[in-house]
Amino acid sequence: MPSPSSRIANIIPSGKDGWEVHFDAMTRHQAGEDIIMLSVGDHDFDTPSETVEAAVKYVRGGFHHYVQLPGLPRLRAAMAKISTRSTGVATSADQVIATPGGQAALYSAVQATLDPGSHAIVVAPYYATYPGTFRAAGADFTVVETRAEDGFQPRRDAIEAALQPNTRAILINTPNNPTGAIYSRTSLEAIAAVCREYDLWLLSDEVYWTLGGGEYLSPRALPGMAERALVINSMSKSHGMTGWRIGWLTGPADLIGLIISLNLVSTYGLTDFVSRAAIEALENDWGVEKIAATYAERRHVVLDALRGTNGVSVRGSEGGMYVMLDIRAVEPDDEAFAWSLLNTEKVAVMPGSSFGDAAAGCIRISLCQPEEVLREAMARLRRHLATMSDRKAAE
Ligand code: PLP
Repeated sequence: MPSPSSRIANIIPSGKDGWEVHFDAMTRHQAGEDIIMLSVGDHDFDTPSETVEAAVKYVRGGFHHYVQLPGLPRLRAAMAKISTRSTGVATSADQVIATPGGQAALYSAVQATLDPGSHAIVVAPYYATYPGTFRAAGADFTVVETRAEDGFQPRRDAIEAALQPNTRAILINTPNNPTGAIYSRTSLEAIAAVCREYDLWLLSDEVYWTLGGGEYLSPRALPGMAERALVINSMSKSHGMTGWRIGWLTGPADLIGLIISLNLVSTYGLTDFVSRAAIEALENDWGVEKIAATYAERRHVVLDALRGTNGVSVRGSEGGMYVMLDIRAVEPDDEAFAWSLLNTEKVAVMPGSSFGDAAAGCIRISLCQPEEVLREAMARLRRHLATMSDRKAAE
């Protein structure tokens, strides 16, 4: 065949991608091995039944047609209302565009703010698609590591040190995947100050905003940020709708207007009946409280089970769908640890280094399993840690 564009060929560089433990575990699990899968980030429960019933009603009702490119007007209005609630900034429908999931919102945000050859800063650990999303735009990026010892809170000096003359944007994610860290007001104010001082966009991935517990602070709420913040949002996590592919981007109306033309040439708008079910789910908060309470309780179960375990420290892990465990004192090689946990105790977790150097020496434990499964998994993990510690002491 003729050669593909270098842009598309380089989105995912070939070689190891960090998901080897997960895919091996998944293959063995599907073949019937008793493996507890704590390596995935998708709900173990179905979408709330009200949302499902609404979608069935709209499929049967003939809602099978094209919709407006930026989303149905009532959908945009419902999304704007949630953005007003989540970011604390009054948001109108023209400051919102509906997208097929948070990933498409992120893609649009990057396409809209970075030219080929422009530079962005990505705070790590980060969600696995971030580097590819910049490569797809032909943009460069620098990864700024946070430290486990700081609970993965970003630091202003590290971000400033990574600035280049062509830096246009900073990408952050709080509550964070993979660390579960919730960036503090101090951290967010520092990042906002850098954005204002150097005239940068802030791409703020807030898809886990309902899974934090307590009051949520969006950096869009900070002084001077509404004009430069692009907030990535999604119904995947908050409303239990990962497979429905529906999310949105919030930002200045002028930029959103330009992104509508990106939709013209990419998605051509969303699915009609999904949009209509989503409107009802947003307007009625279907599932939101229950899902948030479920993950809060699971986090509590896991943290409780790990309390007092020798040689490990919980880092971040204040929100989102994951707990991050620092296992360096027992085994500095997180990938070796994940393999031995899988092979010995049949528990699959993600090696932290899959998400960048900042999380090396940690494992990411997914909370996407019922409480009793998490309890059993933690018992197995504790047993494995004890065996490894004993072996180390005997060396
Ligand atoms: N951002 C983060 C941090 C995520 O963890 C995910 C999905 O796991 C996404 C964005 C994309 O979510 P969506 O399913 O809405 O595309």
